[in-house]
Amino acid sequence: MDSFFSRDIGLLTELDKAQLLKDELGIHTYEDLLKHYPFRYEDRNNQFTIAALIPTTSSVQLQGYIKRLQRIDKGKKRLVALFEDGTGQIELIWFHNFSWIIKKIKPNVRYRIWGKPLFLPQGQKQLIHPEITLAIGNQGNTINLVPLYHSTEKLKRNQLDTKGIAFLQKKLLSQLGAIVEETLPDYLLTRYQLVSLKEAFGNIHFPSSQTVLNQAQRRLKFEELFYTQLKLLKVRQVRVEKQNDKIFNKVELLNVFYHNHLPFNLTNGQKKTIREIYRDLSSGKRMNRLLQGDVGSGKTIVAFLAMLIVIGSKAQVAIMAPTEILAKQHFERFHVFARQLGLNIALLTGSTKKKERVHILYRLKVGLLHIIVGTHALLSDDVSFNELGFFIIDEQHRFGVAQRAGLLTKNQVYAPHILTMTATPIPRTLAMTFYGDLDLSTIYELPSGRQPIKTQHYYENARLKVFQFIREQLILGRQIYIVYPLIEASVALDYSNLMAGYTSVCRAFPDVPVGIVHGKMDSAAKDMEMKRFEKNETHILVATTVIEVGVNVPNATVMVIESAERFGLSQLHQLRGRVGRGSAQSYCILMTDYRLNKAGKKRMETMVKTNNGFEIAELDLKLRGPGDLMGLQQSGTLNLKIADLSKDTAILEVARKLAKNIIQQDPDFQHPAHLPIYKEYVRLLTVAGDWNRVG
Ligand code: ADP
Ligand code: MG
Repeated sequence: MDSFFSRDIGLLTELDKAQLLKDELGIHTYEDLLKHYPFRYEDRNNQFTIAALIPTTSSVQLQGYIKRLQRIDKGKKRLVALFEDGTGQIELIWFHNFSWIIKKIKPNVRYRIWGKPLFLPQGQKQLIHPEITLAIGNQGNTINLVPLYHSTEKLKRNQLDTKGIAFLQKKLLSQLGAIVEETLPDYLLTRYQLVSLKEAFGNIHFPSSQTVLNQAQRRLKFEELFYTQLKLLKVRQVRVEKQNDKIFNKVELLNVFYHNHLPFNLTNGQKKTIREIYRDLSSGKRMNRLLQGDVGSGKTIVAFLAMLIVIGSKAQVAIMAPTEILAKQHFERFHVFARQLGLNIALLTGSTKKKERVHILYRLKVGLLHIIVGTHALLSDDVSFNELGFFIIDEQHRFGVAQRAGLLTKNQVYAPHILTMTATPIPRTLAMTFYGDLDLSTIYELPSGRQPIKTQHYYENARLKVFQFIREQLILGRQIYIVYPLIEASVALDYSNLMAGYTSVCRAFPDVPVGIVHGKMDSAAKDMEMKRFEKNETHILVATTVIEVGVNVPNATVMVIESAERFGLSQLHQLRGRVGRGSAQSYCILMTDYRLNKAGKKRMETMVKTNNGFEIAELDLKLRGPGDLMGLQQSGTLNLKIADLSKDTAILEVARKLAKNIIQQDPDFQHPAHLPIYKEYVRLLTVAGDWNRVG
């Protein structure tokens, strides 16, 4: 089955079509196609008689005979057939493929047709481009659920619409027959009442009833979640078992900083996390820990304290942030601390000047630099360390897995410890699945003395009131963010909205310095605008979501989010986290259109109701699904094709427990009954490529 699954899709169809499938849908192999599951099924039980058709009906099924076939060349060329079912007549019309249809259609044969009826003013009924199949037997109810597949415009133009894809699936399934090998042992199929893999593949694409479809879905979801868990747990087991020759347990430097320079008292969550990190660093086993804590919970200082343990033990540390703005901000904060401790630190980003870059790389290589802060520029090939002991990734969900893998090459002697940090709290189900190979630390509380941000939702007609409020805050000496959406699909439109917004703000506050930042500006200009705002030279900052992550201006107390309905919950929460960083009362104002759909309304209500990032993340998962929530789909690690983490928690729990038990009892899948698991596991590792090395 191994080689069958990995066969190139070009063996199944014409090469140009195969190329399109690769380019448009990422379908390269037989397995990719087989796992391009229908997103929905059309229920063709919708059987009508011609007489009973009513103008509002959607697609319907009719059965009857074709009485007349006529090719009309006057006007728009078309082929017209008269279809009768004993209760009435309807015209079937085609505008192309005439010869194929003429050849196919025979008189006195019973056909089943499917399409959406049109009602002409004169009372005629028509079906344009109906689907036609032979009605076998009398009722001919064998295909009630017709699979619908995702396709693209380009594919559709090349006969790879949903029907074209279904055709390929049929062809593939017919070859699969003898080859498909079971991937779960019999005893598990029995225990969990799962249908065989072969049956599941057949029925997921062409189900004969809702019942067999449900069984197929359950089987494939179970399989997918089980193997995802198995891989993650296995990776973790290997990591934990492997002794790392490097132990970081020197706390002198940490103590010096802690007692003399730490600008505040740590929260309990921060203390607990440092203890957990210390335990990992000093254990002789490589750390791979995820630190999650709500926006403003103080993860950065935890990262710094952890660095001091490693630097104190004579290795170098790196911290990588997703944006240049954020990297700079970390650098500036750490720079102050580093000076106090006599440590050398540098910043490396895409816009570091060449000469400076050469200098930094040299000092890094010979070990003169203790700390390097940067963007993904840190991962480029020419960046090498004297001894990199610890790598911190901030806002990790913004980095792809491949990028994470890149950092492992930075130390040839031993793998550096890894701490990843995220302010998008991860719902439990996701943490369990996606981060199955990580240890997890969570900071639940915010530093004391913070006032919860007040959030309000206004419609467009309250704009004057909002401007009035902004004016009051400006008089108090506070600063204001006004954020506009920037969504790839409509960049040009968003950009003009942003500019229009900027103009209207300038007009409404002619006496106030207003700045603007957006993605189209080059990094120096962006930087200058950010600096001006940080220094309180501008009082209002109009921006796109470039300011979403990490920006820290404690004097900013108002976050206005324009077209807030277009943001997801987690993103709104992230944006809101840009205010409330000082001791003054802060506000978040959500502006939306009147026409809010239900989900949009729910998002606004949630934002107004709660400041708790964990609650928000759970709800976001429910409303949007996990892929969307964290960009997981692109990250490649959790490439779920059928399971849905927001809905399939029950299956997930069972699959995870099973995976855990098997790894505990039979870690190398040596038991004869586990041979199918062993085979599939090995196959998946080769298919998956590199990602599993990251753990
Ligand atoms: P995040 O977890 O979102 O990255 P930061 O690390 O940026 O949060 O911290 C937010 C702000 O809170 C910073 O200005 C930081 O100096 C401050 N801070 C962090 N920990 C504490 C604490 N224990 N007490 C008071 N302020 C703190
Ligand atoms: Mg942060």
